[in-house]
Amino acid sequence: VRGYEGRQVAVLGLGRSGLSAARALREGGAIPVVWDDNAAARDKAEGEGFEVRDLSRDGAFEDVASLIVSPGIPHLYPNPNAVIALAWDAGVPVDNDIGLFFASLGQNEWNSYDTVPRVVAITGSNGKSTTSALLHHVLSESGRSSQLAGNIGRGVLDIDPPEDGGVVVLELSSYQTDLARSLTPDVAILTNMSPDHLDRHGGFGGYFAAKRRLFAEGGPDRAVIGVDEKEGRYLANQLSVSAEDDRVIRISSGQKLTGPGWQVFVRKGFLAEWRKGRQVGSIDLRDIAGLPGAHNHQNACAAYAAARALGLGPRQIEAAFKTFAGLPHRSQVIAEADGVRYVNDSKATNVDSACKALQAFNNIRWICGGLMKEGGLDDLKAGLPHVTKAYVIGREAAQFALMIDGVEAEICTDMKTAVAKAKADAQSGDVVLLAPAAASFDQYDNFEKRGEDFAACVLAELGQG
Ligand code: ADP
Repeated sequence: VRGYEGRQVAVLGLGRSGLSAARALREGGAIPVVWDDNAAARDKAEGEGFEVRDLSRDGAFEDVASLIVSPGIPHLYPNPNAVIALAWDAGVPVDNDIGLFFASLGQNEWNSYDTVPRVVAITGSNGKSTTSALLHHVLSESGRSSQLAGNIGRGVLDIDPPEDGGVVVLELSSYQTDLARSLTPDVAILTNMSPDHLDRHGGFGGYFAAKRRLFAEGGPDRAVIGVDEKEGRYLANQLSVSAEDDRVIRISSGQKLTGPGWQVFVRKGFLAEWRKGRQVGSIDLRDIAGLPGAHNHQNACAAYAAARALGLGPRQIEAAFKTFAGLPHRSQVIAEADGVRYVNDSKATNVDSACKALQAFNNIRWICGGLMKEGGLDDLKAGLPHVTKAYVIGREAAQFALMIDGVEAEICTDMKTAVAKAKADAQSGDVVLLAPAAASFDQYDNFEKRGEDFAACVLAELGQG
């Protein structure tokens, strides 16, 4: 990263993105001064030769050009981290690794690389990782050089020198879009909008505002926007100068889109692409094993639209869809025994994703519960008719069980009990599905650990462990 030669740049948070920012800054000739509340993280950075400085002490920001913040650190709500507040008071610009990345592209110099990649940035409440991985897969299978970065894959400042014509597929959470000072992707995707992380954004309006920053004035050449919610419809309208404007590609997995612009939608399992009132592409999604359920059809629309914007043909995209294996912890089949499928969707950490997972299957023995998010469980309604019985885990299991009205629910508290009971009850044709509709932190370090525990319990129950 250039632009800070000989100047001090503070880095707060020394996880993956913080450390990679510190390294990239040093490579570009800046002097990183780094801090993390966690002593082990500080020791690691010190081991790499970085100057560790307590950024919360008075005067810490004297002669500091910028503060780079990790996504996990609150920067506004419920309250800004004390270090960020100090930087504000000192007038020091606050940014993140994503902002540094885009700013470096703007200088036509990104680290020491001579080439400028095409950047596709993906945000939305759900489906970001799946869409990113799918697009990366499509590009790679079609012979385009592609790198996966951001929330998935590598830290964006850790990628390899991009090849000419190479693409960087960048997954961005609302925490990242909210902080980055520079956000100039060539193609930007909003998959969908539903409540999540509201505490960090001061409510739904703040959450949407954070995501919208990706589409700000002077933003992407092409905007791929999910229009199944009003926020997407509003944004697509705002960005279009006329009904025919094909800077915007509207996508939907629920409705036939009929406007004169560019659109990609799924009806009855068929993906259709329309442009200027004519159908120009289609794919039968029904026999694509790696993309089950309407929610994955939405992800398919998003990846398809972005791949088309990058110049790929429908047949190339279709061929790649057929070899997409899906991601772990998202509708991942763990085992099948006695006609019962065991599916891990531990990544369903919010109500919308869990509801979509439920709608993708029938006769579900549903393992759910955990640390509940704001907004309650009412929006699970559309998924509940697919559930035969719920097996509730988590520290708040009793409360969770009370809140899922109209479904038989058994309080199991821990995963082992839930899996054992679900297996004992299950009949041929049933699906035992982990789709918690809650965060994992009451019982696990993260959703991956929760999914792994589910898989281990299933295999142990089946005698395959
Ligand atoms: P993200 O990166 O946005 O969290 P993922 O692709 O990791 O998205 O999926 C997160 C969860 O949401 C999983 O439970 C998955 O099954 C579900 N999901 C995936 N795509 C969608 C979608 N388009 N709409 C709603 N839920 C989805």
